[in-house]
Amino acid sequence: MSKFIIVTGGVVSSLGKGITAASLGRLLINRGLSVTVQKLDPYINVDPGTMSPYQHGEVFVTEDGAETDLDIGHYERFLDISCKKNCNYTSGKIYSSIIAKERAGEYLGKTIQVVPHVTNEIKDSIMGVASEDVDVVIVEIGGTVGDIEGLSFLEAVRQLRVELGRENILFLHCALVPYLEAAHEVKTKPAQSSVKELTRLGIQPDILVCRTNAGIEITDEMKEKLAMFCNLRGPEYVIHNSDAEHLYDLPLMLQKEGLDTIVCKQLKLKAPKANMADWKKMMVSIKKKKPQISVAIVGKYTEVADAYISVTEALKHAGIANNVDVHVKLVNAEEVEQRGAEAVLFDVKGIVVPGGFGKRGIEGKIAAAKYARENNIPYLGICLGMQIAVIEFARNILGYSDANSAEIDPKTKHNVIDIMEDQKNISEKGGTMRLGAYPCELVKGTKAYEAYGTSKVDERHRHRYEFNNKFKKEIEANGMKVSGVNKKRDLVEIVEIPENKFYVACQFHPEFKSHPYRPHPLFAALISACK
Ligand code: GLN
Repeated sequence: MSKFIIVTGGVVSSLGKGITAASLGRLLINRGLSVTVQKLDPYINVDPGTMSPYQHGEVFVTEDGAETDLDIGHYERFLDISCKKNCNYTSGKIYSSIIAKERAGEYLGKTIQVVPHVTNEIKDSIMGVASEDVDVVIVEIGGTVGDIEGLSFLEAVRQLRVELGRENILFLHCALVPYLEAAHEVKTKPAQSSVKELTRLGIQPDILVCRTNAGIEITDEMKEKLAMFCNLRGPEYVIHNSDAEHLYDLPLMLQKEGLDTIVCKQLKLKAPKANMADWKKMMVSIKKKKPQISVAIVGKYTEVADAYISVTEALKHAGIANNVDVHVKLVNAEEVEQRGAEAVLFDVKGIVVPGGFGKRGIEGKIAAAKYARENNIPYLGICLGMQIAVIEFARNILGYSDANSAEIDPKTKHNVIDIMEDQKNISEKGGTMRLGAYPCELVKGTKAYEAYGTSKVDERHRHRYEFNNKFKKEIEANGMKVSGVNKKRDLVEIVEIPENKFYVACQFHPEFKSHPYRPHPLFAALISACK
């Protein structure tokens, strides 16, 4: 049966808990263990699907169609696994399941309480990812210890420890260890306090991961002190996690600190030392000095870097494979509207219009697509970015000045992008889109086919609107080619302009399937064209 590692965070948020957990997972996998992950988010939304990227960054989509926290994306990229629906629970999801059962009379007249009903539901969700084939489940609890919303989750894992025993479940706590400029001192007190807060809730962490700024040292004396005051078994249970130069440095840094060794010791996992030779090779090629190229992401949440994290990562992965350093320029679509495409995009070698919802910035994105098409600048349209490419083509090549998506202009006669039939009568907003992986057949002789090197692919979706087949013939007759389709549902999945160097736009989200050492073919082809 699987063993569990519960990851919590203290002092402040944004400590890189997710990356720490993902890095530990990578080390355990490279020891030959099978690992899976789960993120528990204490907020009340049922999933992040209806949350603004301003609140929560990107919404990541799994193969089986769950809208999840962006940390799941980090897990998939670091661990090279495909997560399932049960990889992400929120308080909202837990409560809606309990309330549905209560309404169905399943609790036989009992009063429904946080303990035991909510905590039992949480424990069931955690145990739901365990199996004979999984050696280790890493469970990250979102938020910070002390948050009101997180209490039921912490109580649930406290109970699990009693039920499963110390050899089967380990607590890893991440905390900030700040450096005080004025005092010239590294302070361990906040970390100690957050461990105290945890122990007050009945949880004694086994391992303390101390996050510091780059260049700050955690001396052996400090490790001794932290171990002593936090009730840890020894200084080797205190792990230093400093700001890294590169995200993917972390597994190697944590290996050096002995994190996976101590985890295996504590959980009595017999596994050889992690072989990180390939990862090290990857880091060498990431850090090698390479020519730089700029690629723009034209979106509307450009103030929040995390809003386009998977797209940014996918561009970087494609850069590694193409031996260039991709500099991502986040461009606000409204700025393109105000200043014109040329003024904002003159210095980039490629343009990506990513997914998005709603009206704001649409005209700027259309202007960016036009600029790319007319100036033969490599373009990759993703989901909304594909719809934008079709709208731009219909307006400026077919001459339909009112061409639009029904999402933006429900009354237009030239609704080249239209709501799907099965979406028309759905009023609920959460979890009702075309979500998750669907097959796509590629047309031989196209750029898309050439990029993938195969004729059948599965790609992940998250949208309500589709290419309107009513305009397909006319669009194709005028120079935009359909290069990928979903045969079963007769849906256009990819369009391209064969005349251009690379002008490809897809209805799905290729960024969710890109890995640092296995870039997504469409991103790799984009960057190759940019070179
Ligand atoms: N808003 C568009 C739709 O729902 C595109 C969605 C997206 O880009 N993910 O179809």
